[in-house]
Amino acid sequence: MGSRREEERNEKIIRGLMKLPPNRKCINCNSVGPQYVCTNFWTFTCLSCSGIHREFTHRVKSVSMSKFTTQEVRALEQGGNQVTVLRTVLPFPSRVTCSTL
Ligand SMILES: [Zn+2]
Repeated sequence: MGSRREEERNEKIIRGLMKLPPNRKCINCNSVGPQYVCTNFWTFTCLSCSGIHREFTHRVKSVSMSKFTTQEVRALEQGGNQVTVLRTVLPFPSRVTCSTL
């Protein structure tokens, strides 16, 4: 598993990703400063929407309370709210997912 240094680096990257304009708003309800990540879609989501994701059995992690692996951070770097918005507009989301990962 990741070393302490790796954990710190990953946390720093995630904090940076949270500052990107598309990730500063909850993907689901547009509320400011989402603190959760849905790891099914690699989107940033707020507390109340994270509860809704859980109802759909999506996996949700709290940014402040969870550790993220290097793999997860990479997926988030390539995902995020902006990419997902594009995906939902496109007619073949699964194909887009494959090509972007
Ligand atoms: Zn929300």
